[in-house]
Amino acid sequence: MSATPTPNVPPTWIDVSVPVRSGMVHWPDNPPIELVRTMDMARGDPCTVSHLSLGVHTGTHVDAPVHFLVNTAGVDAVPFDRLLGEARVVEVSEGPSIGAAQLRAMDPRPGERLLFKTRNSARCWKADRFLPDFVYLSLEAAALLAERRVRTVGIDYLSIAGMEEGVPTHRALLEKGICIIEGLDLSSVEPGSYELICLPLRLAGADGAPARVLLRARPPGR
Ligand SMILES: [Zn+2]
Repeated sequence: MSATPTPNVPPTWIDVSVPVRSGMVHWPDNPPIELVRTMDMARGDPCTVSHLSLGVHTGTHVDAPVHFLVNTAGVDAVPFDRLLGEARVVEVSEGPSIGAAQLRAMDPRPGERLLFKTRNSARCWKADRFLPDFVYLSLEAAALLAERRVRTVGIDYLSIAGMEEGVPTHRALLEKGICIIEGLDLSSVEPGSYELICLPLRLAGADGAPARVLLRARPPGR
């Protein structure tokens, strides 16, 4: 799945969202995830119906401004231009965090949708338990993205911010109207230019919502 499509073969959509299932990993103080059948044709019921219980920051999801800023927009008011359009996947091989110098070398541009592929993609989703030592965006790097006025930023584990910098990092981005997509799985995506489709559930006024996220490689020069 290269970022450069083979001639005459149309690029396919890649699902970069993680499956939502009972007992899946979640942020430590967030609700557990339950997806259970309350009616089941295998048990003689006329149809199969499931009950779903989860936090809005489950798996692949979008953070709304109201998650960290009072009296601001919910996830249902995130503009579509943050969620749909061209996106750049950049690979970060060094850890433990994405620093400002590293980010500056990537030259983030105004209006860009930037998705960070880190070692989280290959490592963290394989673990059933929460891994606190995930790769995150440093506060200095978040400030640089805010200054550069990117449109959207994405990361491949449950928070864009480190365990100690959650509040200031989220605020630095959300205050500038930068959309945050968390919980991506970019393990099958190469760095490069993609079309992004990210559709969070339309949860009225909510601080976040699970999202289905797809990427498709963009033909060169377009
Ligand atoms: Zn979140």
